[in-house]
Amino acid sequence: MPICRTEGIVLRSYPFRDTSKIAVLYSPKFGKLGLVAKGARRPKSIFGGSLEPITYIKVTFYHRENRELHTLSQAEVVEPFREVKEDIGLLGYASAACELVLKLTPPESPNPSLFRALSDVLREMERRRKGEVLLWWFELRAAEALGYRPEFGRCVFCGGPLEGASFGFRAEAGGVLCPKCASDGDVLLSPGAVKLLLRLQTLPASRAAGLSTSGPAGEQARGVLRALLSYHTESKELRALDFLRKVAHGP
Ligand SMILES: [Zn+2]
Repeated sequence: MPICRTEGIVLRSYPFRDTSKIAVLYSPKFGKLGLVAKGARRPKSIFGGSLEPITYIKVTFYHRENRELHTLSQAEVVEPFREVKEDIGLLGYASAACELVLKLTPPESPNPSLFRALSDVLREMERRRKGEVLLWWFELRAAEALGYRPEFGRCVFCGGPLEGASFGFRAEAGGVLCPKCASDGDVLLSPGAVKLLLRLQTLPASRAAGLSTSGPAGEQARGVLRALLSYHTESKELRALDFLRKVAHGP
């Protein structure tokens, strides 16, 4: 069993057997990695709080060939993202980003761009205390890193420019459609919403954090991202977002 070292972000952790824990880490070097932390639920465990979801850690582990779970030997917290964990709204959006990575990535398939996007989004959430707009930014970066970047610059059907007062978005077509190509079932988009999505797609997280999600353009962009997400995750909504809505409006 070779000893390996990597850094990564804890996406999820849960109890395992009597006193242990399993942590699912997203790392730049190995992708999504399942780690067994023996004795992690004992009061004086050497792992402390390092295996909490949404924690950036450095780990040493024994890599077991052809196994889904590897044995964690050491874990050290690099960034705890305390502000994010203490705010229920930020926690919900950060959990949604982690949930997305859990759902959309196969085990042990590295994707350094996706890792960078995940660490950038958590850092900016921590620093700027912005949740929703940064999750949108992350959703677009994740789509790009996973090979299905939606097109917002021109019509995906005819390739023509986006001219007119409203356009359509169709996730299965891979982007926005001009007034001539759009049809009734598409998500309706104004030029303002297209502009917002284009800016989210091109700006770094630090600048995207300053964009506004309010008003009709924000509402339409929200609809586009929901359509994109449900198409690629094959589920209606992320559990973390569903939870946030229930907190805001009651079950
Ligand atoms: Zn067209």
